[in-house]
Amino acid sequence: MRTIGLIGGMSWESTLPYYRRINELVQERLGGLHSARIVLVSVDFSDIEALQSAGKWNDAGLQLARAARSIEAAGGDCVVLATNTMHKVADAIEDAVDIPLLHIADTVAEAIRSQSLQTVGLLGTRFTMEEDFYRARLEDSFALSILVPEAADREFVDRVIYTELCCGILSETSRDTFRDIIGRLVERGAEGIILGCTEIPLLVSVADVSVPVFDTGELHAVAAVEFALGSD
Ligand code: GLU
Repeated sequence: MRTIGLIGGMSWESTLPYYRRINELVQERLGGLHSARIVLVSVDFSDIEALQSAGKWNDAGLQLARAARSIEAAGGDCVVLATNTMHKVADAIEDAVDIPLLHIADTVAEAIRSQSLQTVGLLGTRFTMEEDFYRARLEDSFALSILVPEAADREFVDRVIYTELCCGILSETSRDTFRDIIGRLVERGAEGIILGCTEIPLLVSVADVSVPVFDTGELHAVAAVEFALGSD
């Protein structure tokens, strides 16, 4: 079994499900007392969020590159960056190590393509919904059409992520509004919904959505286990 390197803490609320799902999946596949080999480097999200807000992405990239080097030095065979947003600095991480980064957007795109969907809605932080590093990868490399919520809805989703979900606050009112926002994306033609922030599945489940849902953290955990147990 290969060792999964996990960069977590962004936020820790969503790193916990990664750790649990990776171990559950390894146990399902191997049985008995098997569990995953994991090197976890968990950062202080307050530092990272301050750099995001200040637009200091180079500094954020340096911090995560350092985390990736720690993983490689500790014997990790891959890097799994447990956040969609910080894939904005994926290049800095890939340049810092010789082990592969399992890119979360590629994992999600492959799941969408496997269901033969073309147009999907994307929920995430303002960075993920509005910038090119994530959407353009889905559109250019996988020929998907990505719909994002209107401005006021994007502002709401982003605020709930940082002020509620990353703080462990799960509100019924926010869940209802997320359902409405998703409903508007479906009305505009979304055939599926990407929960493109690893905290959103803490609030929204498949039962809340009438079309297929793509839980990025879950799919990423599956990809990590496939890498760990695969033969290539
Ligand atoms: N975990 C979130 C994501 O998947 C947001 C937190 C962050 O800014 O990294 O994008």
